[in-house]
Amino acid sequence: MATLSALPPEILAKYQPVIGLEVHVQLMTASKAFCGCRNEYGGEPNTHVCPTCLGLPGALPVLNRKAVEFAVLAARAIGCQIRERSVFSRKNYFYPDSPKGYQISQFDKPIAEHGAIVVPDAEGRPKRIGITRLHLEEDAGKSLHDGFADSASRTYIDLNRCGTPLVEIVSEPDLRTPDEAFEYLTRLKEILLYTGVSDCNMEEGSLRCDANVSVMLRGADRFGTKAEVKNVNSFRYIRSALEHEIERQIGVLEEGGRVVQESRLWNNAEGRTYSMRSKEQAHDYRYFPEPDLPELVVGAEWQTEISKALPELPEARRARMVAQYGIAAQDAATLTATRAFADQFEAAAKLAKSPRRVVALLTSELTPRLRAAGLEMEQSPVTLAGVVLAADLLESGELSSKQLKQLLDTCFASGEDFAAMYEREKPQQISDTGAIEAMIDEVIAANEKQVLQYRGGKKTVAAFFVGQVMRLSKGQANPALLNELVVKKLDALGPA
Ligand code: ADP
Ligand code: ZN
Ligand code: MG
Repeated sequence: MATLSALPPEILAKYQPVIGLEVHVQLMTASKAFCGCRNEYGGEPNTHVCPTCLGLPGALPVLNRKAVEFAVLAARAIGCQIRERSVFSRKNYFYPDSPKGYQISQFDKPIAEHGAIVVPDAEGRPKRIGITRLHLEEDAGKSLHDGFADSASRTYIDLNRCGTPLVEIVSEPDLRTPDEAFEYLTRLKEILLYTGVSDCNMEEGSLRCDANVSVMLRGADRFGTKAEVKNVNSFRYIRSALEHEIERQIGVLEEGGRVVQESRLWNNAEGRTYSMRSKEQAHDYRYFPEPDLPELVVGAEWQTEISKALPELPEARRARMVAQYGIAAQDAATLTATRAFADQFEAAAKLAKSPRRVVALLTSELTPRLRAAGLEMEQSPVTLAGVVLAADLLESGELSSKQLKQLLDTCFASGEDFAAMYEREKPQQISDTGAIEAMIDEVIAANEKQVLQYRGGKKTVAAFFVGQVMRLSKGQANPALLNELVVKKLDALGPA
């Protein structure tokens, strides 16, 4: 964690930060939440619009069934209870990118409540972060402040995003450090990606986060006044923004001031937050039930149907893979970073003689080469099928690890597919027992000292002989056979 720098540590240590996050996630439905317009990022401005999402008088909303299913799926994945009957409400406010003058959202009866995500705390122990609610709502359009010849004097409006279905996921004020907030967001995003309800692309605004933060004296029984930091478009920046905002609030309190409840904007270039506007109270939105939409009913049967699409979630999958393949937690984390890769890996591992060897090759041979070459797995000359082939060749002793490394290097240098290259360059392996024994005899005769050591009980010297014979064979002796024959020959000499 970057350190909070300007205030002395003993001052910082007096205070306990409290953080709660509100995350907006765009759902990847084909059409918008309440109309048939395409739900798609970008596009010529104001082309994915219709009377409903433009808020023209008389146009009526019709709820998108898929948006409900995605909301339920996301809610279930974060352990929420689904409310059988939820209600849409109007959240009234004026803003140029919202032509209706209100946002259709959910207020006192959201579709889902009472979930949780588990994050590691500062000591690495699991800590439960409560999720207050997940509700369905619609996105607003976009004000375009830059990029036009007259941007200095005009703002343009693009309403393509208007009516895009969103879920808002509100956490309890259970987070205590910017690091915990970072972990929470990382895990939430990972879970949502696994469910497939959103691409969670922060650059395109598919996932956006408002961070609420307050500080109180340690041991106090009431939370301090919170500020809300908006407009932060990466998890790392959110962590920095929180660090700075915590320090700012402590500074205010230390000088005898009061923290005001307000929204603040993070300026990444300057590394500080700015006051944006004092926060409207909830009642200022004049919430009332949306008269144009009936109660949303998601009965038990529909919930069960939707839940069938729930995949094994990242945390459970990692635990299972650790047990099933006997791999380290860290390796399991790497392999499950995306659901697509984890699926591919497991499909491949199933075909291999030794899934563990596949993992070992992936993590210790392939990943470093990909990193050095700046390639993603999808661009790798060694595909997962190639890794399985390589693992099997090692397992059967048809390839020594040295030979394999050379082949991998050649693939990465030329970009040729591993399997194809192996077929062509297949090292001429010597699996003829007589030929290998002859070479072993030669090496034994030339290394009297090591022979004596072995016969004296130092069995590890066998590796020396294996290495020497391998060299003599120009790396072509079948390693499994070679190992076996070396030990047999040396043992046959008897103790010294
Ligand atoms: P508001 O009515 O201002 O929207 P909410 O009670 O709905 O406030 O909470 C919004 C978010 O702020 C939630 O994520 C919640 O956990 C968090 N939060 C509430 N009170 C505090 C506090 N004192 N300090 C930090 N976060 C808080
Ligand atoms: Zn529309
Ligand atoms: Mg609120």
